Amino acid sequence: MSDPKDPWLLTPGPLTTSTTVKQSMLRDWGSRDQEFIAINARMRARLVELLHGEGSFVTVPMQGSGTFAVEAMLGSFVPKTGKLLILINGAYGKRMAKICDYYGRAYGVIEVAEDKPIEPAAVAKALAADPAITHVTVVHCETTSGVLNPVAEIAAAVAADGRRLLVDAMSAFGAIPLDAREIAFDAVAASSNKCIEGVPGLGVVICREAALAQCKGNAPSLSLDLYDQWQVLEKTQQYRFTPPIHCIVAFETALAEHAAEGGVAGRGARYRNNCRLLVEGMRALGFQTLLPDRLQAPIIVTFHMPADPKFVFQTFYDRLRDRGFVIYPGKLTVADSFRIGCIGRLGEAEMRGAIDAVRAVMAELGVGSGAPRQPLAAIA
Ligand SMILES: *Cc1c(COP(=O)(O)O)cnc(C)c1O
Repeated sequence: MSDPKDPWLLTPGPLTTSTTVKQSMLRDWGSRDQEFIAINARMRARLVELLHGEGSFVTVPMQGSGTFAVEAMLGSFVPKTGKLLILINGAYGKRMAKICDYYGRAYGVIEVAEDKPIEPAAVAKALAADPAITHVTVVHCETTSGVLNPVAEIAAAVAADGRRLLVDAMSAFGAIPLDAREIAFDAVAASSNKCIEGVPGLGVVICREAALAQCKGNAPSLSLDLYDQWQVLEKTQQYRFTPPIHCIVAFETALAEHAAEGGVAGRGARYRNNCRLLVEGMRALGFQTLLPDRLQAPIIVTFHMPADPKFVFQTFYDRLRDRGFVIYPGKLTVADSFRIGCIGRLGEAEMRGAIDAVRAVMAELGVGSGAPRQPLAAIA
């Protein structure tokens, strides 16, 4: 059994990181240190490579969690006179609307249920109906449920109508391909702490340079002004304000480990295997996934709450934690549910260990099956 004091995090961030990523933080660097400047430059260049955006994209790092990067992206790319169409199928899409409320930016929404992907045809229709829309934003993998949105098809609809696309790829970046040579977008927000498996503390926005160059004066926030952050970084190689140095150094180590695993393809393959083991193991115990397999991204899986009244989620959660596995409560309005992540420095042994722990805790609780109440669709 793993050490309950240092559990496996089956959560979509913060997540389990490698020992070597953690060890790379056992030093102090000055922010003007040449070694740190070189690390930061390599980190920025590598992120552009992961999108195949060499020559036309630049990485603008942003101190803070992933939301800081999303907020910086929206505030800096959508001009004061612009209008954003927000595609919502979960909490992270809703958060973007909240950011626009704070900033007083005009926006419209297309909102569908959390267990449904965004339909590209609906996007095309909304754009045709509203010429004021300048930008569209979509979440690549909606971490609320784990649903994968069809970014390529949405990007094609946006480009066909001459509008610009901004992507929150936070929970997918580094494990699910997103290729700037094939998909048209102006910016992608990601962070140090999801599929790249760094420690939390740095958001990044990978920006089409020609589009970013037109963003001067857009941002309503000094700290979150991507244009200014970019300009100062390019001119001085320095951050405007204190960078999370240890986090950036660990991020570079995490990027090297990501490359050694085979980059996006290798990382994605491990996560798909984790997801498969998790879903098969849970189904064998009677649990049902919220999403059909064709909509499920290999990032986080939502399970229906079991019908058995002896199943008390908090007790289930605490006992799994005692056995060294941290899972995630549900955050959905469509179904009573909980979530288990597939990402982080976890492989076959940890996923099998998690299933064994779930089986043992169910036995302790006297829960015979994880089967939910009959879903409505099955009754109809
Ligand atoms: C994790 C995540 C974010 C950012 O969350 P933070 O808690 O601010 O790091 C944004 N969007 C999506 C889709 C995410 O999964």
